[in-house]
Amino acid sequence: MMIKLLMELIRMFLNRPRIPYPEESADFSATLESVDVHDVIDSWYDTYKPPISYFLASIVIEVSLKYPYAGCCEQAEKHIYLRPEYANAGTLAHEVAHVVYYILTDEQKQAFFDAYKLALETDSLLQLLYSKKNQSMYNTTEIHGEIYRYLGNKLPKELYIFYPYLI
Ligand SMILES: [Zn+2]
Repeated sequence: MMIKLLMELIRMFLNRPRIPYPEESADFSATLESVDVHDVIDSWYDTYKPPISYFLASIVIEVSLKYPYAGCCEQAEKHIYLRPEYANAGTLAHEVAHVVYYILTDEQKQAFFDAYKLALETDSLLQLLYSKKNQSMYNTTEIHGEIYRYLGNKLPKELYIFYPYLI
């Protein structure tokens, strides 16, 4: 009986959903000089495997102290700034999602939010993400960015259409 219970617990542990792209820890020893932005971009391509496109290649990505945030982007200019200590694939993924979100029409943005609310009722990975990150999912832009950052191409299929160039 105990063995059966134990086996059941192990099975539950192995089957429980996990965040596919967990948050990387900050590297406080990193400086503007020590971080090569190309390594960060390569790491994002290797990890998230977005399709190669002119659109993605045309985004300017810079390691910079211009903004106090881990990552920041000027969406219309397609310009991303990453602090050296947070210059990693996950931070970049979040900011790239912001650039992509910007090109969606207002109708698409509304449709994304509606589809997200619906998916949240059934998708276990999305529910897990929401349980951990609801504080940073405070508006539609951030919801869109956090979903791509943490779920990557494991995000709910019905949301794929709102991630052009990324999925
Ligand atoms: Zn953001």
